[in-house]
Amino acid sequence: MHEYTIQLLYGVAAVCFILALKWLSAVPTARRGVITGILGMLLAVVGTLLKPDLLQRGFGAYQWILVAFVIGTVIGVPMALMPMTAVPQRTALSHAFGALAAALVGAAHFFLESPHLSKFTMVALGLEVLLGFLTFTASLMAFGKLQEVLPQRPIVFKFQNIVNLSILTAAVAIAVFLVFDPGHKVLFLTMSGLALTFGVLLIIPIGGADMPTVISLLNSYAGLAAAAMGFVLDNKLLIIAGALDGSSGLILSIIMCKAMNRSFTNVLFGGFGQLQVASGKVEQRNVRSASPEEAAELLASATSVMVIPGYGMAVAQAQHKVRELFDQLGKRGINMRFAIHPVAGRMPGHMNVLLAEADIPYDKLMEMEDANPEMPQTDVALVIGANDVTNPAARHDKNSPIYGMPIIDTDKARTVMVIKRSMNPGFAGIENELYFMPQTLMLFGDAKSFVGEIVKSLGTPS
Ligand code: NDP
Repeated sequence: MHEYTIQLLYGVAAVCFILALKWLSAVPTARRGVITGILGMLLAVVGTLLKPDLLQRGFGAYQWILVAFVIGTVIGVPMALMPMTAVPQRTALSHAFGALAAALVGAAHFFLESPHLSKFTMVALGLEVLLGFLTFTASLMAFGKLQEVLPQRPIVFKFQNIVNLSILTAAVAIAVFLVFDPGHKVLFLTMSGLALTFGVLLIIPIGGADMPTVISLLNSYAGLAAAAMGFVLDNKLLIIAGALDGSSGLILSIIMCKAMNRSFTNVLFGGFGQLQVASGKVEQRNVRSASPEEAAELLASATSVMVIPGYGMAVAQAQHKVRELFDQLGKRGINMRFAIHPVAGRMPGHMNVLLAEADIPYDKLMEMEDANPEMPQTDVALVIGANDVTNPAARHDKNSPIYGMPIIDTDKARTVMVIKRSMNPGFAGIENELYFMPQTLMLFGDAKSFVGEIVKSLGTPS
């Protein structure tokens, strides 16, 4: 195919990627965004497969691509079938493979062309291989921690920062040396080994709790590696796609840090998420609990209900029962809405995706900033499997690990009901003051069955 046609395909693919990102940022257009992204990737792959130099080489050039395609499919399909609750670790795996691909392409290019590589190419190639290899092992470690194959707790040792910094400095120094003298294959291999080691060491001191934010940061590294690969291969589409990937990953990490009131330094070196449960001397405090029938009665007598969903709703897959509750209360003329915290669940947008799956109308979903002023006028705040995002300690307890994190002002509602299975803490590992407040009723049970029981009670005429 003519080079001009390929550039045209690449151009359309780049537009698709940009539109995909734009549409993905809002629930009503997200599906369109996904399809446009897939279309863009398809055009990019087809354009690349039809490059004149590949076509000239005939089947011989395609047979290895076919092998890679089969291997990719065998790995990719089961990954796509991982449950929603495992999306953060699934994403980590995607980054690991993307980064590995970039690093291997860079390494292949080096061994094929060395020592005839220009300084510019060597700068880009060094960046590609360094970022690619370190992101590969770092993402695998992040996957292991989230999947609980590796210990979640931070692993620390003496002089850790000095060791890490020395390894990184040595790898960068070799990369710089290779820019001026690209003939040293052993040095290149040493640099790759150092980058792989640094990836592991970068992640082990970070607690499992911070992995989703770290994964988003690694997304941006993988994107930058791909952009650098674009410079090495002189492929403009790779530069555009890599830059979009790199910047969106960075923006997402910033949004997540902001929603948790954390800084990058705090995420990378803070050791957040280490178990905070007080050793042995847990204070015995009383809570009030209620049955599904009592909860149904309270809901039926309300005029406004605000649901605060969280990670527990995702674990229990309670969204369809929540939809039934929404229908039941709607029939009674009760205004049921949803207050969505930006980091409820285990990934940004987690709650939106689940509620959209259950066909809850988008206009019933309120962002935290819009929902909070409504809380004092709300009759019942119904917390379904959320914990940290409702903890009032974030507002006033300077010693709390979540101090400063914006929360849903659940405690300001007239009555609060919390569905969860026990008094166990949530992600941050701390007790929630909300459960001990006089207006709070604990509804102990699995979110799906408890909401189901409430729906049954509401459907039974009293
Ligand atoms: P939490 O993790 O704070 O709490 C979830 C609660 O759900 C638990 O207390 C648990 O209590 C309950 N639960 C678990 N399974 C069930 C079930 N089957 N039925 C009913 N309840 C259940 O979740 P939140 O959504 O409130 O907060 C998210 C946390 O994750 C925040 O700390 C946030 O910073 C963090 N985080 C979020 C990210 C994101 O992008 N969304 C990224 C990184 C971190 P019990 O065991 O008693 O049932």
